[in-house]
Amino acid sequence: MNSTKEAQLFEGISASPGIAIGKAYVLSGDVVKVEQCDLKTSEIEKEISKFQKAIEKTKDELKRIHRKASIKIGEDGEKLFNVYKMLLEDSLIIDETIERISKERKNADYIYNCVLAKFQNLLESADDEYFMGRVADIRDVKRRVIRNIQGKKESFINSIAEKSIIFARELTPLETVQLNKRLVLAFVTDLGGKTSHAAIMARSLQIPAVVGLRDLSNEIKTGNRVIVDGKAGEVIINPSANTLEKYRKKQEKYINFTKRFEQIRDLPCRTRDGKDIELSANLEFPDEIETVKTYGAKGIGLYRSEYLYLMKNVLPSEDELYSEYNRIAKHVKPNPVIIRTLDIGGDKQPRCINIPQEENPFLGLRAIRLCLERKDIFKTQLRAILRASAQGNIKILIPMICCVDEIMETKKVIADIQNELKNEKIPFDENIDIGVMIEVPSAAILADLIAKEVDFLSIGTNDLIQYTLAVDRGNEHISYLYKNLPLSVLRIIRDVVDAGHRQGVWVGMCGEMAGSPIATLILLGLGLDELSVSPAVLPEIKTIIRSVTFEEAEKLAEKVLQLSSSKSVENFIFKIMKKNYSEFL
Ligand code: PEP
Ligand code: MG
Repeated sequence: MNSTKEAQLFEGISASPGIAIGKAYVLSGDVVKVEQCDLKTSEIEKEISKFQKAIEKTKDELKRIHRKASIKIGEDGEKLFNVYKMLLEDSLIIDETIERISKERKNADYIYNCVLAKFQNLLESADDEYFMGRVADIRDVKRRVIRNIQGKKESFINSIAEKSIIFARELTPLETVQLNKRLVLAFVTDLGGKTSHAAIMARSLQIPAVVGLRDLSNEIKTGNRVIVDGKAGEVIINPSANTLEKYRKKQEKYINFTKRFEQIRDLPCRTRDGKDIELSANLEFPDEIETVKTYGAKGIGLYRSEYLYLMKNVLPSEDELYSEYNRIAKHVKPNPVIIRTLDIGGDKQPRCINIPQEENPFLGLRAIRLCLERKDIFKTQLRAILRASAQGNIKILIPMICCVDEIMETKKVIADIQNELKNEKIPFDENIDIGVMIEVPSAAILADLIAKEVDFLSIGTNDLIQYTLAVDRGNEHISYLYKNLPLSVLRIIRDVVDAGHRQGVWVGMCGEMAGSPIATLILLGLGLDELSVSPAVLPEIKTIIRSVTFEEAEKLAEKVLQLSSSKSVENFIFKIMKKNYSEFL
């Protein structure tokens, strides 16, 4: 931390560009601290009444949230609120808590915590998705009631009432999908790295964000005046009038800078010597489809289909999925939408799917591994994708493939569904392209063999960096290793592009490296055919591509790959960026 007389400056990791100025809103998150205390006989009645009042207060709180619920919660939100209401009115839970407070003479928050933990354990051992969903509900209700017993203020994400800058220890993908975009000016988290999913979502929602600020959420208070500079990765608390003025100007400059890009929106993404690069957008929320067009993307290079599941309490039905995919495909038609099949697991834990607790979720039952284990879920999604493929240009992308056998098994499931649809006389695109994400080093090593089995490859650098360098993508303590341009990964990219091209398939990139301006010239020179990026950075990437010839980029990439360390790559590229593209740094 650097502190000056006028302001406190905290430096974190830049997660999403833009400048926000406003008041802080601190989310205490899911952690509730409960201590056990003995009560005197005279205190028992008061404790019971404290508990009953807390239940009533929680009901009011939920009613209020229900009224304001963001449209994203929709129909499932209704069901969720009903479950919460039932839990708060459950006479078994209430009676047992009251009885135990007086019998055991212990504080209400401690007893309520014990009573609900018992229910939670029961449901957890049921090993059933519906019940697992209820465990998450119990945890949420428990947290709320305990907070009210302890007389603490509510600070849950959907209780934000005015435009604020959100501070939290961490934001899970589940919490982030609930936030009301209109009220969130920026978010700042203690944990997380540049490619943690909260950071990716911030970029997708075009909300400035800084992550990896270690313990800042403990130091800041709700109501503090704050400046967030998403690009510099800086947070300034209680700025002076001078600092405020300086950042207002910077904010204005940034807005003008983004407006300027409208001019190149409809120009082709073509190098000066005429090589076209397919520049498409990454999409997380179906609602964002309009924004994608605003920034000039033609197609969707990565539709992270799991976000639809993360927003739900129960598994989405085939028809529900079909209508979303159909809508997106029609919207971008004749350009493609590449639907990545469910990439659940790791840090993406939905309420609606029961994933067993794992020691290492990022190395566990994630993405295609889960889909092949849970073919019922996978088949429902594939049926929806294939049905929608009759209406638009849809391609299927399979995440986390690590060997040829997995792709063969996946293709067999797809072929089974195709036969099923044929028998049912339901139309679909019989020549639908199937691609694989190259995001696990073993898949990169086998890229030539995998490419023989598919129509395209898409490099997912977020996970590829994570697994190649053995660096947790969300861990701020080792984020110094999580560089944008590791030499090892650049070599892998070169080899994957060559392997794909030798087998006659196109090779794209949909990881965050594709949207990082400092990587653009190298990626262009390495021969990638397609880059899929967060919509907001699309104009910057296009500007850089349009400024050079392919030959120049090839020479540059060749030079870079002869350097001896990631640091020298960075220095080399920064020098070029500073000279020619300083506004993108
Ligand atoms: C990647 O790993 O690069 C990728 C695009 O997938 P995700 O970030 O969703 O894991
Ligand atoms: Mg990935």
